[in-house]
Amino acid sequence: MKIKAGLGYDIHRLVEGRPLYLGGINIPYTKGLLGHSDGDCLIHAVVDSLLGALGEKDIGQLFPDTDPAYRGKRSTEILSEVVERMKKRKGRLQHIDTIVIAEEPHLAPFIPKMKDVMGRILSIAAADLGIKAKTNEGIGALGQGKAIAALAHAIILFPDSRS
Ligand code: MG
Repeated sequence: MKIKAGLGYDIHRLVEGRPLYLGGINIPYTKGLLGHSDGDCLIHAVVDSLLGALGEKDIGQLFPDTDPAYRGKRSTEILSEVVERMKKRKGRLQHIDTIVIAEEPHLAPFIPKMKDVMGRILSIAAADLGIKAKTNEGIGALGQGKAIAALAHAIILFPDSRS
């Protein structure tokens, strides 16, 4: 048996004229995250934390934004693909903890639904998926609401010590 941890981080610009997708759900807001996919930086951070624990290449290399196949793709689909990779490697996800840094909108009311949607794809209970929303206290580009960033930390258990 082997326990491996992975770390993920992502940031996307917040712009007019895009729907806001975060944690796999659509959140009503005047702006959305710019990106080749739906721009869901929370899911992208989670994906990179899983890939990190798996010892695989990162999201940008596996799902390149130069590939038209990923244009407008929902990040939940990318997450599902990475969960399949983990299962093929016989990895069992133990826990994920995340932080979303957004000055606006106020995310707390949406966290239970994010946990529900992401937890279902990840096959983990709500208690094993941490989502914490913070502001950046008005500091810098994040604090001015120009972008939303997210961090994620995953712990995966592998039955084979050579994994
Ligand atoms: Mg991204």
